[in-house]
Amino acid sequence: MDKLSSPKVLKEIITKYGFRFNKNLGQNFLIDSNVLDKIVSSAEIGENTGVIEIGPGIGVLTQALAEKAGKVVAIELDSHLLPILNETLGEYKNVKIINADALKVDMNAIINNEFPNMDVKVAANLPYYITTPIIMGLLEKKLNIDSIIVMVQKEVAERMAAKAGEKDYGALSVAVQYFTKPCIIATVPPHCFMPQPKVESVVIKLDILRQPPVEVEDEKKFFNVVKAAFGQRRKTLVNALSNSGLFTMSKEQIKEMLISIGIREDQRGETLSIMQFAELANAIF
Ligand code: SAM
Repeated sequence: MDKLSSPKVLKEIITKYGFRFNKNLGQNFLIDSNVLDKIVSSAEIGENTGVIEIGPGIGVLTQALAEKAGKVVAIELDSHLLPILNETLGEYKNVKIINADALKVDMNAIINNEFPNMDVKVAANLPYYITTPIIMGLLEKKLNIDSIIVMVQKEVAERMAAKAGEKDYGALSVAVQYFTKPCIIATVPPHCFMPQPKVESVVIKLDILRQPPVEVEDEKKFFNVVKAAFGQRRKTLVNALSNSGLFTMSKEQIKEMLISIGIREDQRGETLSIMQFAELANAIF
C-alpha cells in the first residue's frame, strides 16, 4: 500500500469509496509525512510495544505505527471508514480495528486482552471535539500505559503544559501534570491536514508518572480544591473556596488555614503550584 500521508492517495481513496468528511466527528486527516515521522519517532515504539490508536481515519498514522509496533489496536467510530481501513491496512496482520466510541470502550479490557506482557502506549490525531474527555478518561482510569502521544488543538496543548502563574494555567494543567510529564513535540499548521482545520495543532507527549509528583491524602478532595479555585478564577482563593459549597470550613477558618500553610489571603488559585494545591487539599475540610 502506498504511503497514506500522500494527498493524492487520500483523494483517490475517498473518491473510490464516495467518502464524505464528517465535520462533527473532527475528521481532519493528516497529509504530512514529516509530522507523521515526528509522532512515531517521539512515541518510541518497538517490537514489544502495543499501541492503542484513537480515530484512525483512513489509517495514515495506523500504517506508520504498524510498521514499528508489535500490535496496533485502532478504535474508529465512523463505520463508513471500515471498508477503507480494510483496504489500506489489510496487509498489516498486527492491526486490529474496533468500530466503537473511544469514550465508551473498556480500555482496561483492551490492554489486558490485546497486549499481554507488552508496553502499551496511546497514539492519536484526536478528534478535537472530545480531546479533554478522552485524555482525562485515560488518565483518571490509571490505565497500565507508558505514554500518550497526541495531536491536539494548540490552545489545549498550551493549557496542558502551562505552569503556575502563566496565562494558560488552569484545572487542566494541574490534572495533566498530576498524572503525567507533558512535553510539546511540534506545532502543526492547518495545511498539514485535509480538510484544513481552522486552528493550529500541536503534537504533545504525556509520559505517565508512576507516582504523582505530590503527596495527596484524598484525590477527590484535591481535585475539588482545584475545581473550586479555577471555577471562580477572578476571585481570591478564600472567596472561591468558601463560595464553592464543597467544604465545611468557614471563610474565617479557610483564611487561617491558608495563612498557616504560607498562602496569602489575597492570592488567586492561578498562582498556586501543584505542590501548594496538594498542601491546601490536605489541610482543608
Ligand atoms: N488518525 C487519522 C489521521 O491522522 O489522519 C484521523 C484523525 S481525525 C482528526 C479523527 C478521527 O477520529 C476520525 O477518523 C473520526 O472519525 C474519529 N472519531 C471521532 N470521534 C470518535 C470517537 N468518539 N471514537 C473513536 N473515533 C472517533
